[in-house]
This record gives sequence, C-alpha cells and structure tokens, in this order.
Amino acid sequence: MGSNGTKPYRLVARERRPHPTVVEVKGIRIGGPGVVVIAGPCSVESEAQLLETARGVKAAGAHILRGGAFKPRTSPYDFRGLGKAALELLAEAGKRTGMPVVTEVLSEKDVDLVARYADILQVGCRNMANYALLEAVAETGKPILLKRGMAAKIREWLLAAEYILARGNDRVILCERGIRTFDDEHYRNLLDINAIIVARGESHLPVIADPSHGTGRSRLVTPAALAAIAAGANGLMVEVHPDPPRALSDGFQSLTLAEFSTLMRRLSAVCGALGRPLAQAAPRQP
Ligand code: PEP
Ligand code: MN
Repeated sequence: MGSNGTKPYRLVARERRPHPTVVEVKGIRIGGPGVVVIAGPCSVESEAQLLETARGVKAAGAHILRGGAFKPRTSPYDFRGLGKAALELLAEAGKRTGMPVVTEVLSEKDVDLVARYADILQVGCRNMANYALLEAVAETGKPILLKRGMAAKIREWLLAAEYILARGNDRVILCERGIRTFDDEHYRNLLDINAIIVARGESHLPVIADPSHGTGRSRLVTPAALAAIAAGANGLMVEVHPDPPRALSDGFQSLTLAEFSTLMRRLSAVCGALGRPLAQAAPRQP
C-alpha cells in the first residue's frame, strides 16, 4: 500500500474498475465468464509440426494457438527459434485453423516485426522487468500476455503490468508460470496457485496459468491446470507437441495431442462443477 492507502499499481488495481477487464481478440474473450485455453508447441519447428499441433489442439477445443519464434534459452547453444520464418508459419497456421496466435517478443528491436504477425504479444518471465520492452509492446496497442518473473513478487509483476497500462494499453493478460523453488527433484518450477488467487483479487486484469512451465513435467501438467482453474484462473496456456521426445525445446513438459484431449475433457468436467463455461470458440473466418 502507498502511504495514502492506495495501491502502488494504480491503473491495474481492482479498485480502479467496477468490472473485470475483458481482453478480446478475434472474438475470443479473455477475462469474461468463459475459461480460455491457449495451446501449441513451445517452439515452432516446422510447418508440418505446427499444423499437426494446431489442428489437433483446435479439434480438442483450444481457443488460441501459441508457438515460440524467438526463444529465450538458458544456453546460447540451444535451439533459439526460427525467427521470422516461424512468425510466418504461425500466422498461416492460425488462419488455417481459425485461431488467433500468441508468440513471445524477446527484444525491443523485434516488436514491430512480431506485431505484424501475432494477435497477442508475449513478454516472457525473463523480460518481465525489462521496462523499455514493456513500454515498446504497449505502444503496439495489441494484447500483451505478461508472464510473472521466476522470482518476482506479485507486487513487482503487477507493477510491470502498470508500465503497459500507463502507456495507454489496458489489454493485458497476466500469466503465472511457476516460480523458482528449493525442491527441483520432482519438478522444474512451482506453479504458484496462491499468486493466481491474489492477482485475481488485486487486479481487474485477467489471470491465466501456464502449468507447462509451472511444473516442467508433463505428468504434472493436467492436475496443475485443473487446480489453477479451480483457484479462479481465467484460462490456461499449455505446451503441446506431436512427438514430445523429439521436441527441440521443452519436450519433457509438453503434452501429446492425446494427453491434451484428456486435459480438455477433464477441464470441461471441472468447469461444469464450478459453474463456469469454457469460452466460445472463435467464429470461423469465411
Ligand atoms: C514460453 O512460454 O515458451 C516461455 C519461454 O515461457 P517463460 O517465459 O515463462 O519461461
Ligand atoms: Mn517452453
């Protein structure tokens, strides 16, 4: 709290608006009553890999397609994405399957390029506090999917969102993606369910969960996804690959298409129990 009792994230604070913010992209409403599912590969690897994944996740009920073109990798020698070629493939796959697309922008210098192809720009956890990048993505006016830093306080995450709103763009989707923890024997990160509840209470912005990075293990993804929705998340972002052992990045946390279908069936049951519908699919483009 500020000294006068107001929240430091003035524009992001729930008190600022009587109703939750709904971010609409090509007919999909994120932050409304419906639960929204974003799915696709960690990285765009080829046209065949992307199209097979896009068709599969769409058939299972996903609303939005994800796929990395510029990949932040811990080692510079790992696969770092196909760049512009991946953006072209992603936009084409989105068009062919009738889904809006989201992809990460790693650097200020790529903002205009990525904004030409993507419907939603993702700022990754490593860039949450890159304030120059936050202001640059805000200027595009596109929806921004803002991941929480792997060791960021909730206040820091909400203040990062504040940078975007302060630049006149309120189309921000918060994404909890797991935090660093001491026990990494059984998982990579700890999906912070508490943070989903707190962020939903503190802010009018939609909050989604990424149980793929949030666990780092494919067998944990579905139960963690269901827990996040039960805790009040507005949606999910899930990594899916047609052949996870052969994935060029994050195969160990990627679901197969069959596993993703199972997730969607279980999600539909949980949504039924919660009295919250799955969001409507995008109307198909003629
Ligand atoms: C991703 O979504 O592919 C990604 C790299 O996420 P994060 O920034 O959460 O690690
Ligand atoms: Mn990934």
